[in-house]
Amino acid sequence: MHPIEGSLCVVCGERIWSPYAVTADGGPRCGLCRRIEPVFARAVAYGSYEGGLRELIHLLKYGGVCPAANVLGRMLAEAIAKLEREFQQPSVVLLPVPLYRAKRRQRGFNQAELIARAALKSNPCRGRLRLCAAGLVRQRETASQIGLTSHQRRENLRGAFAVSDSEVVRGREVLLVDDVYTTGATVSECARVLRRAGATKIWVATVARTLKNSAQYAEIERPAVGEDNEAADTQTVLARAVVG
Ligand SMILES: [Zn+2]
Repeated sequence: MHPIEGSLCVVCGERIWSPYAVTADGGPRCGLCRRIEPVFARAVAYGSYEGGLRELIHLLKYGGVCPAANVLGRMLAEAIAKLEREFQQPSVVLLPVPLYRAKRRQRGFNQAELIARAALKSNPCRGRLRLCAAGLVRQRETASQIGLTSHQRRENLRGAFAVSDSEVVRGREVLLVDDVYTTGATVSECARVLRRAGATKIWVATVARTLKNSAQYAEIERPAVGEDNEAADTQTVLARAVVG
């Protein structure tokens, strides 16, 4: 279990393989973040969602081994620390991505909240984070996102989240935390709701993130030719290589 290394998208943290990804305005962006400006300002993660880290997260979520949250919290704190110099306000509202109440009852805890509380013990931003554990609520159960297209994921999550008290986030910077970032659909939907409630900027930190693997994906991106040739710039072909 070690931190993510290599060239990453400055916005969403996705791994970048393309030699054309470096842009003039502040570092490399993945094809997706160049096509669509994300609702959140930046997402960071500690490690890749695989191997021992994936097992540790499963141990907490599905095995109910709560002490695992302490280790995961220290990792989350490392990820959060990467954001501190970008915070513009002296204090930032820390919101864990919520579970639907029936699911939380069934599990006995919200893993995102446990990990957030554990991360705060490491004091990653020297007292600048204010946890508001119930600031976001999940209003309904959502179907599993596995196997859904990005459009279906957005539809699946529409209206799933609400801000419990808009006074907490109006005019404020918010840091959303979760255990895993997969496609970003969940945090993007939370960020949309927070922006509507008046949050000025939304940051995202997760313990783990799914990353493109060079062996599984070959990303062929064409460089921008000029202003008029936006279509060429946005044309990204994701070719899944046949493995095995
Ligand atoms: Zn990106």
